[in-house]
Amino acid sequence: MENKILIVEDERSIGEILKYGLEKDGYEVELAYNGEKALEKVNQQDFALVLLDIMLPGKDGFQVCREIRSSFSNLPIIMITAKEEEVDKILGLELGADDYITKPFSVREVIARVKAVLRRTSEPVKSSQAILKSGEIEINLNTMEAFKNGREIELTFREFTLLTFLMQHKNHVFNRQQLLNEVWGYEYTGEDRTVDVMIRRLREKVEDDPAEPNYICTKRGMGYYFRRKE
Ligand code: CA
Repeated sequence: MENKILIVEDERSIGEILKYGLEKDGYEVELAYNGEKALEKVNQQDFALVLLDIMLPGKDGFQVCREIRSSFSNLPIIMITAKEEEVDKILGLELGADDYITKPFSVREVIARVKAVLRRTSEPVKSSQAILKSGEIEINLNTMEAFKNGREIELTFREFTLLTFLMQHKNHVFNRQQLLNEVWGYEYTGEDRTVDVMIRRLREKVEDDPAEPNYICTKRGMGYYFRRKE
C-alpha cells in the first residue's frame, strides 16, 4: 500500500492527532501503541512508511527500528524523539533511520517530512538510464539495488538515494545544504552532521577502505562528490 503509514506511539493523544492530520491529507493510517504490536503489523501489512517514537514501553524505538531494518531494509522510517541526546544516538548508531523529528512538533511539519520521504521513494529517479555504473559500483534504478563487483550492497532507502544522486552527478561537488535539499528533499534546519553520518555509512558499505575513499570523496571545506571512473 503506497499510501499507508504506521504510527508507533504510546501517548495516545499524540498518536491520534498525527493520525487525524495524516488521514486528512489522504493517507491511510494504522496506530501501534508499543513496539511488539508495531513489529506484528509491519510483518502482516505493507506500509509505505513508519513514524516511530523512541520512548515506548517494552521495546524502545531503537530496538524496533533495528528489528524492522533486519527484515525490511527499504521501508522508510522516521524516528520521533523528545531529547537532544536521542538525536545524537539516532545519528551515531547505525540504525538506518531515514529521518527524525524532534518533539514538540507541529502536525504540519510531520506531514511535510512524510511527504518528502515518500516523494523520494515513489518518484522514479529522473533519468532515462536504469543502470548507473562506475568502476566496481553499479546501481539499478528500477529494482533499487546496488552492487559492488556483482555482489549486492545492502543499502537503506536514504543511502541508496544519496548514492544515486552522487553517481548521477559524477565529479560534481555538493555542499551539505545542497545534499540535504536534493536528497532529503526539504529545507533542513542546520543539522549538517546528518549528511556526514550518511556519507560515513555509505563509505563503510561501498569503499574498500572507508578512511581512504575511492568513490565517495571529500573536497575539503567544500563538500562531497562521486569520483568518475571509467
Ligand atoms: Ca512515547
